[in-house]
Amino acid sequence: DAHKYSGMVEDCCCDYVTVDHLNEEVLHPILQELVTTPFFRYFKAKLWCDCPFWLDDGMCHLRDCSVCECPENEFPETFKKPFNHVLSSEDLICQEGKPQAAVDRTLDTKAFKGWVEVDNPWTNDDETDNAEMTYVNLQLNPERYTGYTGPSARRIWDAIYTENCPKYPSGEFCQEKKILYKLISGLHSSISVHIAADYLLNEATSTWGQNLTLLYDRVIKYPDRVGNLYFTFLFVLRAATKAADYLEQAEYDTGNPDDDLKTQSLMRQLLYNPKLQAACPIPFDEAKLWKGENGPELKQQIQKQFRNISALMDCVGCEKCRLWGKLQVHGLGTALKILFSIDGQDLLGQSLQLQRNEVIALMNLLNRLSESLKVVHEMGTSAEMTIKGQ
Ligand code: FAD
Repeated sequence: DAHKYSGMVEDCCCDYVTVDHLNEEVLHPILQELVTTPFFRYFKAKLWCDCPFWLDDGMCHLRDCSVCECPENEFPETFKKPFNHVLSSEDLICQEGKPQAAVDRTLDTKAFKGWVEVDNPWTNDDETDNAEMTYVNLQLNPERYTGYTGPSARRIWDAIYTENCPKYPSGEFCQEKKILYKLISGLHSSISVHIAADYLLNEATSTWGQNLTLLYDRVIKYPDRVGNLYFTFLFVLRAATKAADYLEQAEYDTGNPDDDLKTQSLMRQLLYNPKLQAACPIPFDEAKLWKGENGPELKQQIQKQFRNISALMDCVGCEKCRLWGKLQVHGLGTALKILFSIDGQDLLGQSLQLQRNEVIALMNLLNRLSESLKVVHEMGTSAEMTIKGQ
């Protein structure tokens, strides 16, 4: 197996070749099936954007019109144009006129009940059900190219990196700060990989496909971005397996016993997988963190930075990007909660409490990262050859 990246994934406990093998043989197929189950395909989110950071911008509000909460005279003429079918209020698309940026709410039903509502100190989201919350069918809204680019998108990434998780200087001693940066960079790589893997190649003919140049230019060209993607995957995988006992006992009740049994069985196959346990039993070792004398303050500081990043998702000016941004940051927040809110491993079963939406976010995030790894492994080399051959 010729592998461009060799050796251990930095700050992790497994090597690239093993991770790719495990992912493609074992984890990816299970995750792909898991996320289609009724339990995992609905994510609850407040999609209306009320950005707390740059209120006077107004851009985000205008772009949010696909939820049809703004008066019709706010829509540019081009947005009112009917498509091939009769225009309904659902069809009013107000995100730079790009249908691919809007969330499809076709199956907007609330699928489940139960689970606890406890605030997560790592995220900004208020989980209480209210009229602003929507259940979105993730299967109808794949994360892919949406056309969201330019100053608005740039502003979010800039705010994330410069204010909330600055790139550590090389040789940085503070492991914890380094990890926050790597998680965000890994997520950023994953988003870019999905844009490249599912790109609108020809707007006129609505042809979608791979964009190898984009894949190379944004991710493959930078080994540290690839490394951070693998790191983030292993970090989230560790969180899921650390919480295995809790997740195994959780209720996956959607009202259909057959579906629910299948969900539970897939979770078991994933979390207690003998091949995973043999090849990469501890994908990331969280026990070494927060040990310094300023551990508690550092944790608070990093928690605050992560909450800010979570709040920034309300400023993402493209609805579908906002949905996936929120989901994935929520998933990372859940991983952080699992790994760092509880000190001793033995206490885990007793004190860990997760919300249903957190578990949905965690597993969907893991699936997205697993897909990105597969794309990088399978297409990375051809992307590089294509570019270098030009
Ligand atoms: P960007 O990806 O915007 O990157 C900005 C700068 O960040 C780069 O110039 C580089 O200096 C740095 N950078 C880039 N990648 C990394 C990395 N991995 N690690 C560290 N630093 C890095 N667009 C879509 O089409 N579909 C989506 O679903 C989507 N979701 C998004 C979700 C969020 C939360 C945000 C903020 C944006 C999203 N976008 C999405 C927009 C997309 O991420 C890019 O911003 C956009 O495509 C413009 O890309 P760019 O080339 O300017 O570089």
